[in-house]
Amino acid sequence: MTTTYVRAACPLDCPDTCALLVTVEDGVATAVKGDPDHPTTAGVLCTKVSRYTERTYHEDRLLHPLRRVGKKGEGKFERISWDQALDIIAARLKPIAERAPEAILPYSYCGTMGLIQGESMSSRFFNKIGASLLDRTICAMAGATGYRYTIGGSVGTDMEQFQNSKLLIIWGGNPIASNLHFWTRAQEAKRHGAKLIAIDPYRSLTAEKCHQHIALLPGTDAALALGLMHVLIREDLLDHDYIAQYTLGFEQLKQRAAEWTPERTAQTCGITVDEVVDLARLYGGMAKAGEPVAIRTNYGVQRVRGGGMAVRNIACLPALVGAWRHAAGGVQLSSSGSFPTNKPKLQRTDLLKKIPRTINMTTIGDDLLRPASAAFGPAVEAVIVYNSNPLAVAPDSDKVMRGFLREDLFTVVLEQFQTDTADYADIVLPATTQLEHIDAHTSYGHLYMMANNAAIAPMGEAKPNTEIFRLLAARMGFDDDCFKDSDDQLAAIAFNAQDARALGFDWDALKQKGWQKLNMPAAPFAQGGFPTPSGKCEFYSAQMEKDGLDPLPAYVPPYESAASNPALAARYPLAMISPPARNFLNSTFVNVKSLRSAEGEPHLDMHPDDGAARGIAHGDMVRIFNDRGSFVCKARLTDKARAGLVVGLSVWWKKLATDGKNANEVTSQQLTDMGRAPTFYDTLVQVERVSA
Ligand code: SF4
Repeated sequence: MTTTYVRAACPLDCPDTCALLVTVEDGVATAVKGDPDHPTTAGVLCTKVSRYTERTYHEDRLLHPLRRVGKKGEGKFERISWDQALDIIAARLKPIAERAPEAILPYSYCGTMGLIQGESMSSRFFNKIGASLLDRTICAMAGATGYRYTIGGSVGTDMEQFQNSKLLIIWGGNPIASNLHFWTRAQEAKRHGAKLIAIDPYRSLTAEKCHQHIALLPGTDAALALGLMHVLIREDLLDHDYIAQYTLGFEQLKQRAAEWTPERTAQTCGITVDEVVDLARLYGGMAKAGEPVAIRTNYGVQRVRGGGMAVRNIACLPALVGAWRHAAGGVQLSSSGSFPTNKPKLQRTDLLKKIPRTINMTTIGDDLLRPASAAFGPAVEAVIVYNSNPLAVAPDSDKVMRGFLREDLFTVVLEQFQTDTADYADIVLPATTQLEHIDAHTSYGHLYMMANNAAIAPMGEAKPNTEIFRLLAARMGFDDDCFKDSDDQLAAIAFNAQDARALGFDWDALKQKGWQKLNMPAAPFAQGGFPTPSGKCEFYSAQMEKDGLDPLPAYVPPYESAASNPALAARYPLAMISPPARNFLNSTFVNVKSLRSAEGEPHLDMHPDDGAARGIAHGDMVRIFNDRGSFVCKARLTDKARAGLVVGLSVWWKKLATDGKNANEVTSQQLTDMGRAPTFYDTLVQVERVSA
């Protein structure tokens, strides 16, 4: 028997981007383990990816191209050859591309985070056509935009420093489920005496293990940050020297923060005055005493109307107290902006003859149903879906389904499994998993460039996304040389910017080692140098003013809350959030039996008082509904959900859920204050018991 160990990288939408070691015995992957030498992975993987071989060799893997023979959504398909599939697709796309190229729409996100199997050859293909551009907003854009206005980009505290923090505020995230290797460091900090505080409407697994949990109302994080600023300023818990040298707009901020007394803050956030004052005193007091204080904020805070502003306000706090002076201080939302990628070259934006219209992936429900108009342009006639499962993950799911049900819409889905979305495809093309192709990765949690080697041959007739788009390009008659680039050639240019060369970057060497750290200072903003227009942390942002936004930190209330829409709240009095279930990653892994069994069945956590008020007992089946739709699942009465809040851990495949529906039946297509992003956690519902 020949045994080899192949270096790989986790492709999933998780900040940890683990380095993997794949054991291959006689051409079969028998184990996927964490690389013990990679500093952030440290030999440990989450449960989900420890089961990656189960997923790769799953009996339901798509192994051949398929053509739909049933109704859309019915899931009936017949096997066809690659030649047939490519011929059908080219025959449908060519006339549209000649007549109205923008009627063709790519739809993709982070099913893989890989630079190569993500947006490389696919972008070249769509750019050559002149297809609609896709605004990839569904996860992070609100927060990324608010963060960028404030500190200049997706950069911040190095993950490898958090174990040295003395106060860690975990704001709007559940790292045990979705940022495990940060959590390892947080626990190390705790062992060394650090205090851990979770800010989250829900008492998540992480919040349960912190010293303190502040359970604010969903969508009020921006107000809490303003209240903290108020107390920091009022009690002079500030780093005046840091503010004077490295920030912009303190005097204006002072006036704004003066409006946010602890009383107003507490009332807005549904917490106590003491929680506001004590947190500010702890944070500012420790910073003043020279202790490293850090905030790990995550995307939970920004899935509401004011999500961009919430992250902006949080990102102001470290500069007020001088937390950036320490390597283990500051804030991290994402490290993705630290990487020297070369997307224009990878994606060949120069192939565009003109800039096409842009369609926001968050509003795919409305946009698939939109007729042609002068404002919108042509109706969407063809969608090519890859690395995404919009039927399960996009908001306002009933509209998304109705869009994909359109008989005149031609839908192609590149997939590893027959997902909810694949059921609506005209043609399904089998795609490889991470063990079967090569890729290059950045991370949004750490600072390592990563390489993924193919460990095994493609399963069945599955092909990497890149190869599928190469073949499609050839069928469409595109003979540009760029469609001949191999995956290795693509990977070699993925990081080939000046900064990467300065690091001595070499793709072949990266493939051998698996990972290489960027050359970043340990305390990146100890002496300012923020990548903002002013080079300072911008409490006041002229760019925001130019963009029609409030240039100062502010509170943008939710669309749907008792305070902002009492009439709606009278009908739908419960706020619903749908954060990630521990054993799923978005909608990936829901079909892996062992992980689905660990998760049990779809359930809704609700406070016992809310259950009692509705005659709902623990374990009852309940219907969650609002004007957009409804779904059914099992109630769990628990004080993990504060009164007035219900929590539906997600994202279940609809066809594997109780009534063929999931939490996105009730979420909306309303967009955030900045970044054009979704407002999944800005959702009012009512819940009723379903009679047996
Ligand atoms: S999902 Fe996250 S924690 Fe799990 S292996 Fe991938 S990168 Fe690591």
